[in-house]
Amino acid sequence: MGTIKICSFLLFVVFFGGPSISTQAPQKNKQIVIAASTVLDGKGGVLHDTRIVIEDSKIVRIDPNATPVNYDLRGLTVMPGWIDSHVHITWSFGPDGKNAGAGGTTPYATYAAAANAWATLMAGFTTVQSVGSTNDLPLRDAIARGALPGPRILTSAEPLIGNGEKSGTPDEIRAFVRKQKEAGADLIKIFAAGSVRRPQMLLSQEQLNAACYEAKKLGLRTLVHAYKDAVRASVLAGCTEIEHGPLATDDDLKLMVQKGVWLDPQAGLVMENYLLNKDKFSGTPGYPEEVFPAIREMIPAYHDFFKQALKIPGLKIVFGSDALAGSHGRNAEEFIDRVRDVGMDPIAAMVSANSLAAEALGMRDKIGSIAPGLEADIIALDGDPIKDITAVRRVVFVMRGGVVYKDKGR
Ligand SMILES: [Zn+2]
Repeated sequence: MGTIKICSFLLFVVFFGGPSISTQAPQKNKQIVIAASTVLDGKGGVLHDTRIVIEDSKIVRIDPNATPVNYDLRGLTVMPGWIDSHVHITWSFGPDGKNAGAGGTTPYATYAAAANAWATLMAGFTTVQSVGSTNDLPLRDAIARGALPGPRILTSAEPLIGNGEKSGTPDEIRAFVRKQKEAGADLIKIFAAGSVRRPQMLLSQEQLNAACYEAKKLGLRTLVHAYKDAVRASVLAGCTEIEHGPLATDDDLKLMVQKGVWLDPQAGLVMENYLLNKDKFSGTPGYPEEVFPAIREMIPAYHDFFKQALKIPGLKIVFGSDALAGSHGRNAEEFIDRVRDVGMDPIAAMVSANSLAAEALGMRDKIGSIAPGLEADIIALDGDPIKDITAVRRVVFVMRGGVVYKDKGR
């Protein structure tokens, strides 16, 4: 009896207290109706003047006559929550304001990671793929059990960092991949090349073959940080997705189409963020003072590569911002770069972070679209991103799995 009373009281607070942040478990059997004048369905289609009906964590139907309306989002652009295929969710600045990387284990670093998750969710990203730190694992699990607010997280756990022979024999690499699977990795991240300035391969064809083949055998996808020759080598090794990619040739990109390999190139945010936060990165490991002019010069090279990729018919370009310290919660700036600076079609840009990204994660039947049976991951923008891409900065409503985390209205 006591429990029932407490629950009723909580429900009273949730329904009538008017908070913008709800409890983190969807309310059982409670129907929620969202009214919308414009809905981007996540697959490139648009619905007008309709209502989305949600029960528990899922969308159960689209019904223009559903009542009563709980959230009136007419006048806004409603769409599926975005998916960012490439972030580093635990990467933060330290108490001294300097770049502290993604591997910190202090209470400060832990709270910073939780704050990154919150900022990312508030920015409209309801799922992220975090690639490169074992610290992602407890954060992923805390969010998954509803203990912390944040986007759904998929993670690679520890990445395979290419270092020539020292990366290990094929047998050792296969063992490393199995170890990540045992640690709970959702995918495997591989660094197969240096940078756009030093694009040389850091793993041999044989080593890449071992990593991607073993991952596939375990049912894990492989995301490969690659430039130039490492792109083709990764495709030939049967890896799933190429991160970054500049200096790949048209023939390499066409081979990706043939083999069904995904491309996640960047159009600016990651480099703009380094320049914006130069004082915080400068002098920290990997970021000597003299690297910053080079980063500025890299931006046109990334733009040119993105434009080159857009011209390859059938190439599947997915959204990944490479968000790290300073850019968590600003992931959507990458949409603006893609549309404004490289001429990506705004509808394609939205789809690349909805159904296409979901497909790349192997989760198309769960997230990325507004359709019955899918998770109720729903956001609303004040403005129309198809007409004005800067509307992606104005996320005023966020629901993930049927739970409303942001409802700023107008
Ligand atoms: Zn990255």
